[in-house]
Amino acid sequence: SSDSASFWARADKYVLNTGVPSLPVIITSAKGTRLYSNNNAQILDFTSGQMSSLLGHSHPEIVAVVQQYVAGLDHLLSNMITHPVVNLAERLSHHLPAPLQKSFFLNTGSESTEAAIKMAKLYTGKFEIVAFSASYHGLTQGAGSATYPTGRKNGGPTMPGQLAFPAPYAYRSPFRTADGSYDWETEMDYGWSMIDRQSVGSLAAFIAEPILSTGGILEPPEGYLVRLSAECKKRGMLLIMDEAQTGVGRTGKMFAFEHSGIVPDILTLSKTLGCGLPLASVSTTVEIERGCKEAGFLWLTTHLNDPLTAAVGDKVLEIVERDNMCQKAKERGEQLRSGLLKLQEKYWCIGDVRGRGLLQGIEFISDAQTKAPGPDLGQAVSDRALHCGLSCNVVNLPGMGGVFRLAPPVTVSAEEIEEGLRILDEAFAHVLS
Ligand code: PMP
Repeated sequence: SSDSASFWARADKYVLNTGVPSLPVIITSAKGTRLYSNNNAQILDFTSGQMSSLLGHSHPEIVAVVQQYVAGLDHLLSNMITHPVVNLAERLSHHLPAPLQKSFFLNTGSESTEAAIKMAKLYTGKFEIVAFSASYHGLTQGAGSATYPTGRKNGGPTMPGQLAFPAPYAYRSPFRTADGSYDWETEMDYGWSMIDRQSVGSLAAFIAEPILSTGGILEPPEGYLVRLSAECKKRGMLLIMDEAQTGVGRTGKMFAFEHSGIVPDILTLSKTLGCGLPLASVSTTVEIERGCKEAGFLWLTTHLNDPLTAAVGDKVLEIVERDNMCQKAKERGEQLRSGLLKLQEKYWCIGDVRGRGLLQGIEFISDAQTKAPGPDLGQAVSDRALHCGLSCNVVNLPGMGGVFRLAPPVTVSAEEIEEGLRILDEAFAHVLS
């Protein structure tokens, strides 16, 4: 319509394009798992916005909290601590293993990465930071130095001391053996030998997502994180876990690190904790807090410990525990996964299905025999799915087929999962016809 034409003309003229291509839809409202467009089309949101709207869009209890705090206690000087901040910090500590007792709150994932890295540097007195070669920790300068899928090109030097570690990519690892198993232990030995050679003797921390999401839904195999944690300890490094996407129930446990049995030294949460509002957290031990303080730690950003978003985070955690959302994520995740495995039997271009709970991915191949990566097919299916009413997301890394990411809200119904799978089926059939 001419309304749409003028919308896109104005968008083009006034909204600075940051390199993100716009999808051809104009969403005018969102509720639960559904987005509604200006021409009354409904779209199922299988990405929870930008992986954030954990309880669906505009959950009534979140709306009520926002209304209450916007109207009565929105934002203060950063050194005025409020009830919602203490409540959220206390509630988080009840869910975390005992040593991770203390938390503070910021706005974004990038910001929480910056804070965690700074704390690791202060505590250890060292400066080298190791990250997986496919991990995503944000796009500010420090976090962006530890981010590999996007945003590195032409940005000048990264932070001194940023070192890359081979990401555990079972599907295509050169350490896959002839019988199809994955020799991750040898790969890890190799990774550490490269780190130990490159290091100038100042290893401060390893930062990792428990499941690498933007890097293509890569879940380290069983035992991997336990060994990683032990290798960090051996070298006097802290282990920082970034649970921006995996935290707060999405993978079927409150935190994804719980699947592995390790306890990180520092935990960051963001996207899911704020359920679509800008909230992030950094949690650590009393001992690390003390060490940072002695080394002169200062973190004072404008929205440090804001009451409004802290109240939202506290409500999100309350709902996740009260409504048994971890169990729901597990059940709906298994349903989604079994549907994706059926699609894999039907369509040759699905090379791999992987993920946990309601964070699932499918990797596209362009050749059923050689299993060569199929990045274009992934994009084509995603475009078609959006056209048919399903929003999903594709990530493309060099040497990897396009990877579809599916991360519906944990409030998604069994019927909505079936509907999404039906749309995906249609999209595959269309693209391959
Ligand atoms: N860490 C992880 C694991 C992420 O997925 C993201 C966002 N994709 C970030 C950090 C950065 O968060 P933000 O975009 O809120 O700065």
